[in-house]
Order: sequence, then structure tokens, then C-alpha cells
Amino acid sequence: MNTKSVEAIIQPREPHFVGDGFSVHNFIPASYLLDMQRMNLFILLDYGSKYHFDPTEIPKGVGVHPHRGFETVTIAYKGRIEHHDSSGGGGIIGEGDVQWMTAASGILHKEFHESEWSKTGGVMQMVQLWVNLPAKDKMSKPKYQALKKEAISRYILDDGKGEIEVIAGEYMGMKGSASTFTPMYVMNARLKADAEAKFRLPAHYNTALLVIEGSIRVNEGENVPTDNFVLMAQDGEDFVINANEDAVVLILSGEPINEPIAAHGPFVMNTRQELMEAFQDFNSGKFGYLEN
Ligand code: MN
Repeated sequence: MNTKSVEAIIQPREPHFVGDGFSVHNFIPASYLLDMQRMNLFILLDYGSKYHFDPTEIPKGVGVHPHRGFETVTIAYKGRIEHHDSSGGGGIIGEGDVQWMTAASGILHKEFHESEWSKTGGVMQMVQLWVNLPAKDKMSKPKYQALKKEAISRYILDDGKGEIEVIAGEYMGMKGSASTFTPMYVMNARLKADAEAKFRLPAHYNTALLVIEGSIRVNEGENVPTDNFVLMAQDGEDFVINANEDAVVLILSGEPINEPIAAHGPFVMNTRQELMEAFQDFNSGKFGYLEN
């Protein structure tokens, strides 16, 4: 066993609102250990822990805004999110669904609670990740992968005590559902109490876990409670998750993109010049049009 050890367990920061619809704890890049390079290619992680929204006729969310230079990955654990973008794409991200949007050269979009869900209200729990693109792909054509829960690959653990949803990457030969530009793993381990799940990921990949439900131990270490983040070291390949109770764990691991990052607001490029071009292109309407 060539152990990948725990580097740090990071508690959630105070949440803040994105628009009026998403109460999120930012882990990347605001956490003191997690700047945009440390988990690169995962350059942003906003985690919306469980938050109750009262019924409303006017859906809450985030209005029209641009992105360029990366992908946004939205995972709905609870609640329903409706999305529209300037390429005419759109859809509903229901519980267990994943939306993988390649903003690349530029897109406008808006993200709101789904209108029918808004009328009854309920608990929202979600993750939004920004996945960096290598320089050669930053200006590629935008695209969109809507991954429905039923269509996401899942590996049932041998003892039947849980399953690994393979959104991207591979687990025990089970290939992930999303197509990606560079090698990475995005998985949900849905574990029953006392389940054990083993992972082998490349030592040099940037790897982390986020506990969505329940509590776990990693490599038989201390308990990691709900909503906590586990940063893994780059010292080995193998680690083990044990569920203290029924648990859901998001597992992220990616080959680092060793390129400079120039980021401002919704744009993540390689140079300041490219950032300026992004703002100019946005201001001159080159990202298209989307009604508010
Ligand atoms: Mn967005």
C-alpha cells in the first residue's frame, strides 16, 4: 500500500449568497490552504450546504453573467436548478443530476431555482466547481453536458454497502459519464454505515474530498463531519474511506495544469492581456445575448 495521506481537514467558512439563490461556503480559492493553484485544475469550489428556502412565486438565483476560460460543473444534491445560456442551451438540474458546462471561449448564462420547486420551497444543497482548461482549449467552442442521475455510471461496492457514482474518470474499470479535456476524477461515494471504499489515484494529482452527508474516516484517521473538506497530500496513491453512518462524499482528483493563472471575476485565463480581451469582448457583446 502506497498511502495517499490526509494533508488537512478544512472546516466550512461562513456562507455567503451568490445572487439571492445559493448560500455557499467557498472552499477554493478562499480557504487559506486552497488558492487557485493548489487544487488546479479545480480552481473554484462553492458548496451550498443544506439551506431551506421558503415558497416564492419569483424564483431566486443568479442573473445573466459571463464565463470564459474554464468549465462550470453543477451538482444538485437537493433541490432543483434551472439553467439557460446564450447558445440556446438550458435545462433542469434535478436531485442527483450534474450539469457540465464548457464555457471555454465565452458564454452568458443564468442559474435559478426551478420555478415549480420555488413555489413549494424546500432544501437546496449543491456544489459548483470551476474546472480549469489548458491554454490550448480556453478559446474552444462552448458546449454542454446534461448528466441525468439515471445515466451516471455507478459501481456497486462488492459488499453491497454502497456505490460509487463516476461522473468523470474511472473507478474499478467503470468509466465516467462526462467527457473532459484533461484527466480528472469526479465521483460521489454513496456509502451505507460501516461501508469501506478504497481508492487508487495518481500520486501527483490534486485530490480532495467533501463530506456531503454523514461522517467518515479517511485512512482510519479522525472523524470528518458533514460539510468538511479533506485535502489529500501528493505523497501516494491509495486511500480508504470508512463511513461512520450513511454518508455521501464528493471525490475530486485531477492532473495539475501547470500553467499560469490570470483570474478576475468570471474569467480565468493565463495572462492579464487575455483577461483584458475577455472584458473587452464581453463589453462589446461578443458573448452573445441572453434575456434576464
Ligand atoms: Mn455561472
